[in-house]
Amino acid sequence: MYQNLRTNLPKEVMMFPDFPFPEEGPSFIHHTEVLKYLHQYADYFQLYKYIKFNTEVCKVTPKENIWTVHLKENDANNVEKRNFDFIIVCNGHYSIPHWPMIPGLSEFPGQKLHSHDYRNNSHFEGQEVVVVGAGPSGIDIAIEIAQVAKKLVEVYGEKCMDIKNVRKWCREFNEGRINVHDEQRSGRPSLPESTVARIDEMVRANRRITLEEIEDGLNEDCSHFSVHKIESETLGYRKVILSHNKVLSSPFPSNLYLESELDCIKDNVVYFKNGNSHYADSILVCTGYQYDFPFLDPSCRIKIRDTNIVWPLYKHIINVFHPTMAFIGIPSQIPPFPFFYQQIKFFLSAIEEKMILPQESEMLQDIDDNINYLLNSGLPEHHAHKMPSPILWEYDDDISKMASIKPISQKVRELYEITSALRKKYLLSYKDHNFNE
Ligand SMILES: Cc1cc2nc3c(=O)[nH]c(=O)nc-3n(C[C@H](O)[C@H](O)[C@H](O)COP(=O)(O)OP(=O)(O)OC[C@H]3O[C@@H](n4cnc5c(N)ncnc54)[C@H](O)[C@@H]3O)c2cc1C
Repeated sequence: MYQNLRTNLPKEVMMFPDFPFPEEGPSFIHHTEVLKYLHQYADYFQLYKYIKFNTEVCKVTPKENIWTVHLKENDANNVEKRNFDFIIVCNGHYSIPHWPMIPGLSEFPGQKLHSHDYRNNSHFEGQEVVVVGAGPSGIDIAIEIAQVAKKLVEVYGEKCMDIKNVRKWCREFNEGRINVHDEQRSGRPSLPESTVARIDEMVRANRRITLEEIEDGLNEDCSHFSVHKIESETLGYRKVILSHNKVLSSPFPSNLYLESELDCIKDNVVYFKNGNSHYADSILVCTGYQYDFPFLDPSCRIKIRDTNIVWPLYKHIINVFHPTMAFIGIPSQIPPFPFFYQQIKFFLSAIEEKMILPQESEMLQDIDDNINYLLNSGLPEHHAHKMPSPILWEYDDDISKMASIKPISQKVRELYEITSALRKKYLLSYKDHNFNE
């Protein structure tokens, strides 16, 4: 956790529905206030008596509807074994850094760091810094470092898709149903039908398509798009990278530059595929984290596919092969606490038999359908747990209906959307907004 971290969601969105944050004070709070809130929550609901602190779960094994859990207290040598009827896995997924594969990164002679280990900007004073990744951490940290750095280059990701999905993507884009990069939804003109037809023609011809051809096809009608490299001979299929020229509409600090498509790093220089290059004293990668469940015995039958899919989880929660095991908080791009609340209510409905789960084969089919929907939308499989709006509301409606529980309130949903819009437009100042004034 970095020292100055203030939440990127207002407390009015973050709160559990049964326990509001104190009304006074700002909406976007320091991380110490969140910890205080969690303590108050545990106090109010008298939860401490159920918590065993400083204890590691080393192993979880199922045996005939009973779960054996191996527990090891901090300083103890012995492992205690205890049996339980149900297991809820909530070990978080922001502790194992994901390092991107960038040619030359491992030989980079300067300071290199993952956002996981970033604490404050003091090590970057007067430096030229490259920040890789423009998710919530990347953007937040880049703005903080830009205050003291000589120059900061923010490297944003691109949208990759299989060429066969381009037509479908265009259609969905026109209908306003694409929401991977939110900025692509707001106020952008749709792709003209002639462009869609041209892409379609190329796809149907099913031949090798050059970057220039795609670029011609798009740019003639559609100057608000840029097309980057297509390729992947090694993977045996083609990819097209489409992006909007303007990544974010917010003003940035004057020493912050945007780049995309990092090519390689040689000595202290970072090269980009568009021919640009930037000197870097330091490189900070903000490329996310990996799921990891080292304590789950293989007999739990949980696998991590494609580094980012926890499989097989029905509705991203229930272990299909052992439905007395649930996972809370696997999806990302969600309002964490209200969302976790819904997920746990869903699981409770199942174990209290207020809701009957479908057969194993149906649950597996549901997971496959979900992944196929993504693939057909032109998104890679490893996006399986990402829930950009409105997907997360559709998901909440779905599990709430199944479990006969109240969905996340309209007020929280609206505030969440307003916050996303504010963040996009006023990246440097949105945290000063107070929703209580
Ligand atoms: C930089 C950053 C900024 C964020 N900002 C916000 C924000 O503004 N608002 C917001 O709502 N969310 C924010 N989040 C997300 C939020 O922090 C997470 O969604 C939330 O912490 C997830 O809660 P969790 O309980 O699932 O996991 P965690 O908070 O990660 O807790 C998991 C716990 O499990 C323990 N554990 C792991 N393995 C074992 C084991 N084998 N045995 C025993 N214990 C174990 C860990 O020690 C840890 O205490 C942010 C996250 C990051 C990284």
